[in-house]
Amino acid sequence: MKDSSLRSILITGGTGFIGSHTCLKLLEKGYFLYVVDSFINSSPKVLRKLEELFPQGSEKFNQQFNLIEGDIRDSTVIENIFINSINQNRCIEAVIHFAGLKSVEESLLNPSLYWDINVGGSIALVKVLEKYNCRTIVFSSSATVYNSISDSPLSENCEVRPCNPYGETKATVENILRSLYKNKRKDWRVINLRYFNPIGAHSSGVIGEDPIRKTNNLFPYLSKVASGNKEVLKIFGNDWPTFDGTAIRDYIHIMDLADVHCLALEYLLQKEESRFLCLNVGTGKGTSILELLKTYEIVNSCKIPFIYVDRRPGDIAISFAKTELATSILNWKPKFDISDMCRDGWNWQKLNPCGYQ
Ligand code: NAD
Ligand code: UDP
Repeated sequence: MKDSSLRSILITGGTGFIGSHTCLKLLEKGYFLYVVDSFINSSPKVLRKLEELFPQGSEKFNQQFNLIEGDIRDSTVIENIFINSINQNRCIEAVIHFAGLKSVEESLLNPSLYWDINVGGSIALVKVLEKYNCRTIVFSSSATVYNSISDSPLSENCEVRPCNPYGETKATVENILRSLYKNKRKDWRVINLRYFNPIGAHSSGVIGEDPIRKTNNLFPYLSKVASGNKEVLKIFGNDWPTFDGTAIRDYIHIMDLADVHCLALEYLLQKEESRFLCLNVGTGKGTSILELLKTYEIVNSCKIPFIYVDRRPGDIAISFAKTELATSILNWKPKFDISDMCRDGWNWQKLNPCGYQ
């Protein structure tokens, strides 16, 4: 296999939460990155933060990391990136496709925006990939593609039947990629990574999660309550059929998730023939909201005031992954546990109370 230092990769949405942490890992491995982002939910300041963390200095960083502001729906932006890569003799060989919107709540209020960006953007992207014979892609899918009644652990064979527009857009992009793969003459190599609940931050506290758009995910909110930025955590329901009445999720450390992307990419780049895989990415362990909250308090010696409120519409009691497929195919195991996630998430929050501002 070619040395990764000779490989060029296109990263869409690479300044976002998962993208930025993955870029750092890829840079450390020597990949040459073309990162495209519209900054609809991230900050260009991530660039300097990644540079700060890059062990080999600014000159090498600037060689390896190319940031392009642009929208994936604009095919000229993506085409120009390919043309540049060819002119620089660094032809792009694969894509990690993070770009998209991710709020279930917002997708219910504005479904057409989600179809436009998540599906329209992906179609525009793959058209350019076809044109430039780049047919290796790792796609950010989600556990929300599963139906809401399957019992956990959720395996990749569980029924795909999302119950909100966000999940529908993810399932649709998976289907588009499956359809491309079925055209055997073209040899598409595809991995859809179905993430469960990524949380935490890089252990340095230099990069972390800082969404610009409104989000109502648990972990960033919990961190804001811990720092005094928000008064109280509202726990959505204490009458779920779980051991302590609060909902159970499968939290995974963001750096473990970044590792999974590197492994998925390496796996595809090593394969000669076409491939299509859907892989769950979680730890396989369920943690209740109260367990997460208590761990956060203990690990970080802080207090998180909370109240119980009604269940959030559309939520489910329990969701955690069956992870054997990803573990065996990628030869991967998570390194970090819930305590690590809470420690690193708090470190990021403490050092950056206003995010990247
Ligand atoms: P994020 O919002 O932090 O990152 C997404 C990035 O894509 C942002 O930097 C945003 O500016 C960019 N982007 C959005 N639309 C764009 C467009 N049209 N053109 C160019 N750039 C665009 O989100 P994240 O948490 O890093 O998630 C990355 C991907 O993983 C998303 O596709 C999301 O749906 C998926 N995902 C996330 C989670 C999660 O809990 N974080 C779970 C499952 C799946
Ligand atoms: N949750 C909560 N309070 C909040 C945000 C979320 O109790 O302020 C709950 C939510 O109902 C769910 C769990 O925390 O049971 C994880 O929610 P998140 O939105 O982070 O992830 P997802 O629901 O997509 O798994």
